[in-house]
Amino acid sequence: MTTPLPQSRHLATAVPGPRSQELMARKSGAVASGVGTTMPVFAVRASGGIVEDVDGNRFIDLGSGIAVTTVGNSAPRVVEAVTAQAAAFTHTCFMVTPYEGYVDVAEALNRLTPGDHPKRTALFNSGAEAVENAVKIARSFTKRPAVVAFDHGYHGRTNLTMALTAKNMPYKQGFGPFAPEIYRAPLSYPFRDGGLDGPAAARRALDMIEKQIGASNLAALVIEPIQGEGGFVEPAPGFLPALASWCRDNGVVFVADEVQTGFARTGDLFACAHEGVVPDLIVTAKGIAGGLPLSAVTGRAEIMDAPHSGGLGGTYGGNPLACAAALAAIATIEEDGLVGRARDIERLMKARLSKLQSDDARLGDVRGRGAMIAVELVEPGTTAPDAGLARRVAAAAHQAGVIVLTCGTDGNVLRFLPPLTISDELLEDALDVLADAFAAA
Ligand SMILES: *Cc1c(COP(=O)(O)O)cnc(C)c1O
Repeated sequence: MTTPLPQSRHLATAVPGPRSQELMARKSGAVASGVGTTMPVFAVRASGGIVEDVDGNRFIDLGSGIAVTTVGNSAPRVVEAVTAQAAAFTHTCFMVTPYEGYVDVAEALNRLTPGDHPKRTALFNSGAEAVENAVKIARSFTKRPAVVAFDHGYHGRTNLTMALTAKNMPYKQGFGPFAPEIYRAPLSYPFRDGGLDGPAAARRALDMIEKQIGASNLAALVIEPIQGEGGFVEPAPGFLPALASWCRDNGVVFVADEVQTGFARTGDLFACAHEGVVPDLIVTAKGIAGGLPLSAVTGRAEIMDAPHSGGLGGTYGGNPLACAAALAAIATIEEDGLVGRARDIERLMKARLSKLQSDDARLGDVRGRGAMIAVELVEPGTTAPDAGLARRVAAAAHQAGVIVLTCGTDGNVLRFLPPLTISDELLEDALDVLADAFAAA
C-alpha cells in the first residue's frame, strides 16, 4: 500500500475478476438488494484518475464517486488533516461542545459562496439532509408552506427530498406517500424544448407557479443550476437570473442546490456564478470534503437566523473529521488552481466528444461545463432517447477499464465527472475507450 498507485489503465483479469465476484456473492447475502452498484468490482485504493480493484485491475475514474472526490481520492492535504484530527478528537457533537473547525468551515463557505451580503452557515451530513434543512429554514423565514422544484430535478432520497425529486424509478417507486406542498415547474431544457429562450422558459414556469400555487403561499424555489441526475441539463441563458429576480420581487427564497455542481466542478467555484446569480440559500455537499460526509446550507444572515435556537442541527452534522477534510479540500482547490483545471478538462473533453458527435448522429447533444460533461444519446435525427445505447456503451467502457455513469430521466445520458487531478493522458485514453465502445455498440 505504500507504493504509489500507477496512473494508467490496466486489466489484470476479465471484469469482474474472481475476487470481486466472490465479494459480490457476499454482498448479495449480506447487503439489502435495494443498494445497487454501477460497477461489478470492489475497490481497494484510488488516487489521481485511477481506482484499483481487488483483482489488480486499474480503472480510469470518470465518476469521482458521483462528483465527490473533486480534489482527487485520498488527496494529500485531506489525508494529513483528517489523520491529525482523528488523533486529536473524533467527535464531541458541535451542539454539546463546539470546536473551531466547524466555525472555520462556516467562515470559508460564507466567504466563497456567491454574494457579499452577511451570511451564515449550518453543517449537516448528506446532500439530502442539507436540502431538507434549506426548506425548513425557508419555511421558518417566510412562514409560507409551498416549495417548487423542477422537472428532471434530483434532490435526494429522504421523504421530503423524494418529493422534490422528479424521477419515479428508482428513487420513489413504492416509497410514498410523499411530503405535501411540493410542486413541480417546467425547466428550461434547450435540447428538448424547441429552442425556447431562457426568459421565455422562466415565464412559462412562473405563469404556472402564479396560477397554480400563488407567490404568497410559496416559501422557496429549489433548483440545480445545472441538473445532475436529471441529465446534466444546462438551462438556456437568462432562465436562472429571471427566476432569481422573480423570487426577490415576491419574497420567495431562491435555493440553489449545488450539491453536484459545487466546489470547482463546473469551472467556477459554484455554477450560479456563471450567470452572476446570487442565491438566497446555497446547498453544498459532495465535492465539499474530499470524500468525507459533510453538507452545508449557506445563505443570507436574516434568513439563516430565522429558526429558533436548537431548531437546526443533528448528532454528526459538521463532524470534526469532515470539517478538517473540507478545509483541506478548499485549500487544495485554491492553492492548486483547480477551478482553472476544470475549464481545461472541459476544453479537452468537449473537443473530443464533439468530434465523435460529428461522425455519429446517435450523439444528440454534448453539454455541460467544466469537469461536468455529458452526451445525450438519441435515435439519429430525432430527440427520441436511446437508453439502451447508453447502457451498452457504459457496460463496454466498464469492461475496458473506464468508470462511467449514466443519468437522465430517460436513462439516455452518459455523464463524465472526473477528479480535477486526472491527467490529460488518462482523459485521452478514456475517450479512446469510449470511441471504441460507440463503434462497437
Ligand atoms: C447527490 C445529490 C443530492 C443528494 O445528496 P446525498 O448526499 O446523496 O444525500 C441532492 N442534490 C443534488 C443536486 C445531488 O446531486
